[in-house]
Amino acid sequence: MSTLETITHYINGVAVDTHSGRYADVFNPALGQPVARVALGTTDEVDAAVRAAEAAFPAWSATPPLTRARVLFKYLQLCQQHTDEFATMLTREHGKTFADAQGEVARGIEMVEFAVGIPQMLKGEFTDQISRGIDAWSMRQALGVVAGITPFNFPVMVPMWMFPVAIACGNTFVLKPSERDPSPSLLHARLLKEAGLPDGVFNVVQGDKVTVDALLDHPVVQAVSFVGSTPIAEYIYARGSASGKRVQALGGAKNHMVVMPDADMEMTVDALMGAAYGSAGERCMAISVVVAVGDAGDKIVDALAKRTAALKVRDGMAADAEMGPVVSSAAKQRIERLISEGVEQGAKLVVDGRNYVVPGREQGFFVGGTLFDHVTPDMTIYKEEIFGPVLCMLRAPDVGTAVALINRNEYGNGVAIYTRDGGVAREFVRQIQVGMVGVNVPLPVPMAFNSFGGWKRSLFGDHHAYGPEGVRFYTRHKAVMQRWPNTASAGAEFAFPQMK
Ligand code: NAD
Repeated sequence: MSTLETITHYINGVAVDTHSGRYADVFNPALGQPVARVALGTTDEVDAAVRAAEAAFPAWSATPPLTRARVLFKYLQLCQQHTDEFATMLTREHGKTFADAQGEVARGIEMVEFAVGIPQMLKGEFTDQISRGIDAWSMRQALGVVAGITPFNFPVMVPMWMFPVAIACGNTFVLKPSERDPSPSLLHARLLKEAGLPDGVFNVVQGDKVTVDALLDHPVVQAVSFVGSTPIAEYIYARGSASGKRVQALGGAKNHMVVMPDADMEMTVDALMGAAYGSAGERCMAISVVVAVGDAGDKIVDALAKRTAALKVRDGMAADAEMGPVVSSAAKQRIERLISEGVEQGAKLVVDGRNYVVPGREQGFFVGGTLFDHVTPDMTIYKEEIFGPVLCMLRAPDVGTAVALINRNEYGNGVAIYTRDGGVAREFVRQIQVGMVGVNVPLPVPMAFNSFGGWKRSLFGDHHAYGPEGVRFYTRHKAVMQRWPNTASAGAEFAFPQMK
């Protein structure tokens, strides 16, 4: 019998342990030790959660939108009060610094602030008198039971890209969080219940592939939102669509920053430090590639090297930590292997973060900030998503070459350009085949009322996440025409109806 705390499912308003006997260890990455164990759900447990959500759907979808929004408003206030509790869980199970964790919670709360206004977006359009005695309108209706499958890197915020929007629209929800940092899912559940959400509207099934496959195949589940790596996103999209579900599957990334020779170099280096090494590079919008145009590379490489070598890599709870550990021992090994491959393939390793040891945290999964220069597009470190604190610099003779390089990349999540030239920036924005673009902004993550999503192999499906696209994803459009006869019938009409 394990002495570790067990992180359970949450089905129909109560905590439920698994009957499978299957558990996974949840680590504190800074200590390199398990701090809890998480239940791994079975097909039956998924079925129980989906049935609870199915039973809750008729009443919840018939609840007036404003009443639903008021529950979310209360939940919003509770999230604000529990920010530090969420952030502590994040640092403990993910490893990111406490300040970064607080930022994640704040960006999640924005989603709820948007969701409380969703009644405004459900109201449809009305046309009086489309023909004599006939009015027409459109409405958006909830889908039913919907599911969310989320990654380890934003275990508070990414679920909040999904369930506040889905629930505000009248759906009921089953969340399958990452098994690596599952605790925030249960705090969401507790706060939603405290806010007055009826049991069954929000459920959590912890687990792995078995749990995910059961959700993808369940005939009652109408839609699946997924965020994670590209190979799994492709799989989710194919399997979910094959069983007739609406699917949005957001995948991995390789985000470039183009630095023009006229850029403000101090501002550029500051931006790169945060965007490449913040959250140990484990952000889907992290900048992992700099494309230095002309002599821009020579201008920034020394400053970048000095600052990368001086990064304060610590336990995320340390007050001065700039970067915490990576999430797991496997992630550390993979990142270090990729760094070695970069060296073997001829890139210039300017700062080496391998074998990094933090005093007092010798077992922690730490990788130091790593900087490569003179990387070329055929190298593995350029082609693969490393998802660690590794920044690769490539050189390009002009902006056209940089744009062509980025447009050839299989991913298209985020991109940035640093320049003082408005004309260059404008043309870059128009030409670049990437879903989210920053001009002198390193991480162009859209606010809650805009939608988030990449292009190419960074997103599978028709809708981006949250914002207006999220509302469209979680609702169906219905067109209604209505006549109340108050005169004698004009008789049957066999020709196609037209306005008269
Ligand atoms: P992951 O793909 O390993 O896991 C994501 C989810 O899928 C988890 O809930 C996991 O349990 C489940 N899963 C894992 N393997 C599975 C399998 N074989 N079959 C079915 N389900 C499976 O991703 P991760 O490591 O947790 O997260 C990091 C990845 O997520 C990175 O690639 C990152 O770029 C991406 N990400 C993308 C975005 C975006 O908005 N595009 C946002 C955050 C993270």
